[in-house]
Amino acid sequence: SFSTAASASAVATTPPQLPPFDHDPKPYTGPSADQVFQKRKQFLGKMQYLFDENGRRYLDAFAGIVTVSCGHCHPDVLNAIFEQSKLLQHATTIYLHHAIADFAEALASKMPGNLKVVYFVNSGTEANELAMLMARLYTGNLGMIALRNAYHGGSSGTIGLTALNTWKYPIPQGEIHHVVNPDPYHGSFGSDAARYAQDLQDHIDFGTSGKVAGFIAETIQGVGGAVELAPGYLKLVYDIVRKAGGVCIADEVQTGFGRTGSHYWGFETQGVIPDIVTMAKGIGNGLPLGAVVTTPEIANVMAQKIQFNTFGGNPVCSAGGLAVLRVIDKERRQAHCADVGSHLLGRLRTLQERHDIIGDVRGRGLMVGMELVTDRKEKTPAKAETAVLFEKLRDFLVDALDYSMSKL
Ligand code: PMP
Repeated sequence: SFSTAASASAVATTPPQLPPFDHDPKPYTGPSADQVFQKRKQFLGKMQYLFDENGRRYLDAFAGIVTVSCGHCHPDVLNAIFEQSKLLQHATTIYLHHAIADFAEALASKMPGNLKVVYFVNSGTEANELAMLMARLYTGNLGMIALRNAYHGGSSGTIGLTALNTWKYPIPQGEIHHVVNPDPYHGSFGSDAARYAQDLQDHIDFGTSGKVAGFIAETIQGVGGAVELAPGYLKLVYDIVRKAGGVCIADEVQTGFGRTGSHYWGFETQGVIPDIVTMAKGIGNGLPLGAVVTTPEIANVMAQKIQFNTFGGNPVCSAGGLAVLRVIDKERRQAHCADVGSHLLGRLRTLQERHDIIGDVRGRGLMVGMELVTDRKEKTPAKAETAVLFEKLRDFLVDALDYSMSKL
């Protein structure tokens, strides 16, 4: 236990003499990134490029792991991190500090409807864990509904939501129902959103007591292969889920922050407003950062117990996150995603006309996928052929992506 103020003042009669402390650190005068690189020969990231220890340049078409939304070591983000580091490097979410308050306010201003309460965590997995907890506590129900082919995290809770065999471990998965994926290319109902929605209704009717805690989906499945949900699907299933007492969660870990080009958030492409939104990856340009945004009503239920996160909303990460939001606006990154994405889609479709092995070209903004098949009719996934084709496509892809660079 801590000593009380009274007993503390009884002991400390004269204030201790502290050594002088320079609270106004001098500007950084050390070597530049280039000088450090020349000396130490380490990896270096600069906007869309990575350099290896021999100075060889690579175009990072994967943007980290779809995390580097503004470019590696973007000067504005670097500057924000550096400036905040001089003031305060650590505080938990128990304390309200300026960096966390400014960032939360800016993030909330990007959300529609009543999505105004922000929780900071450290990753997408943690964000989805918290969202699932909120859904269960708020509704008093246990059952969660997720889509087949989804990826929502790798913790023992979120692995239950994930429905990709490569990522599953044989552990208890909780009460989770995986419904037929509204995948226009592979799904047996094509783009017929109503038939996929009926499958979800059937799961509720036959697989639960009739009540569920929540439904979670990415609007474009990322790890599952740039699969955009059939148009109109979310509108239909949000109604069904809410009638069954559940809340609707949008996983924006990959689709958020303008990456779809047409909209700031992926869920907007389907004309819905979720009850809980989870985000990570691009939110911090690669910093360990995640967030959950929800309504005051749902947030209220979390106030029953202490809810805090040691590193969540870390001041340095919060300052970096705020800088990311500003760069996206200032440099019109959403419009850039739309522009470069439609160019890329167009070029890939031209290529598809020439090569039977390209079964499908799909996506939106800078979330674009190309599926390789051995048989277009059967849609059999290509395996050994992939490497050979990729070699042929390399120059073309680099050329298409070069367009993006000329725009920066
Ligand atoms: N949701 C989605 C849609 C993701 O793509 C990922 C990561 N691939 C996660 C959640 C989990 O995020 P993290 O790796 O930061 O835990």
